[in-house]
Amino acid sequence: MALDHIFASRAARMKASEIRELLKLLDRPGILSFAGGIPDPNLFPAQEFAAACSTALDPAHAGQALQYSVSEGYMPLRRWIVAHMAQLGIEVSVDNVLITSGSQQALDYLGKLFLSPGDTALVGWPTYLGALAAFNAYEPRYDRLTINDNRAPGDIAQAAEAGGGRVKLAYLSPDFANPTGETIDRPGRERLLDLAETLDCAVIEDAAYQALRYDGDDIPPILALELARKGTIDACRTVYCGSFSKTLSPGLRVGWAVAARPVISQMVLLKQAADLHSATMNQMAVAEVADRCFDSHVTTLRDTYRARRDAMLTALAAHMPDGVTWTKPEGGMFVWLTLPIGTDAAALLQRSLDTVQVAFVPGQAFFADGSGANTLRLSFSCADEATIAEGMRRLGQLLRDA
Ligand code: PMP
Repeated sequence: MALDHIFASRAARMKASEIRELLKLLDRPGILSFAGGIPDPNLFPAQEFAAACSTALDPAHAGQALQYSVSEGYMPLRRWIVAHMAQLGIEVSVDNVLITSGSQQALDYLGKLFLSPGDTALVGWPTYLGALAAFNAYEPRYDRLTINDNRAPGDIAQAAEAGGGRVKLAYLSPDFANPTGETIDRPGRERLLDLAETLDCAVIEDAAYQALRYDGDDIPPILALELARKGTIDACRTVYCGSFSKTLSPGLRVGWAVAARPVISQMVLLKQAADLHSATMNQMAVAEVADRCFDSHVTTLRDTYRARRDAMLTALAAHMPDGVTWTKPEGGMFVWLTLPIGTDAAALLQRSLDTVQVAFVPGQAFFADGSGANTLRLSFSCADEATIAEGMRRLGQLLRDA
């Protein structure tokens, strides 16, 4: 029975994208896929997790592992995160840390916490599709988050008011963003903080790929820069969203949020209402594995993904025709291609699957305003170097023919 006539108004914003439908075709045998933005499953620390799960389920720990637990999260894991954040220049206490079911859950909670219908969320053009999906349920309008031009904050605030709300948050992934692979430099992060101060809005710092840097120097997180300005985390407007998905395992769904205590307290209430807490067993396993081998494991990931990134950039330079440009990421999983204006990357994907059997994600879905038809995202995380070279050769051929 169709019940859509009694769905809440927010359901109108929650549509399956055409892209996701197209991506279902990509499992066909023979397709060289650079579409999925997922970690290489061959690199999961499976043995370490087997040992950690076995410990969690031994008679001394099983009662805790299989029991309900507190919404804030498993204390040894929160302590590990406090130490991890300190290495990034962010001194906080466990009271500033909430464990979430992936950073995706933090994005949902932050949308719920900050956005009333008609409020404005500032996002990149393009931005992470999952952030748009999370925020959409709270019926915001979107405006373009620009860090490198000089659009007056007053104009942004005025447009938000004309839209029936105000600017509540600026969302960005400053390191090796999904989908572009780009990184915001330190002056850009400082300018963003200035903008957030002027607009009096929250900053959501999505650090999903932060640990996966392949060259260049680390840049302090936005929260670290704000902390240096304000002296105390509890005066900061930045919410840092971290994740173990790209480093240890996405399937266990363990991430975290770090923020001022009043924000974390609200998020704890949201979590109580939504799912009580993230799986105790998973938090225990992640705490154990992170303790044992986080740094060494991340070093292995960096070495492997760096070689794949290099293979992709080399092959793009060799095979792409004139008029195609692409980003040169210092980390993460993605390279972003811009095709000549007028090219439709979604139509190109269809043709690519039918002819050269190469898959990528057309870029349009990453734009809140539906622009960007001539862009596409390539992921280098799951293919070996030879496959990447062959895939880029085929894609170059297709683009030349087009
Ligand atoms: N942020 C970004 C930029 C991502 O690419 C992803 C996953 N693709 C997430 C957040 C969500 O990751 P998770 O919920 O697994 O932590």
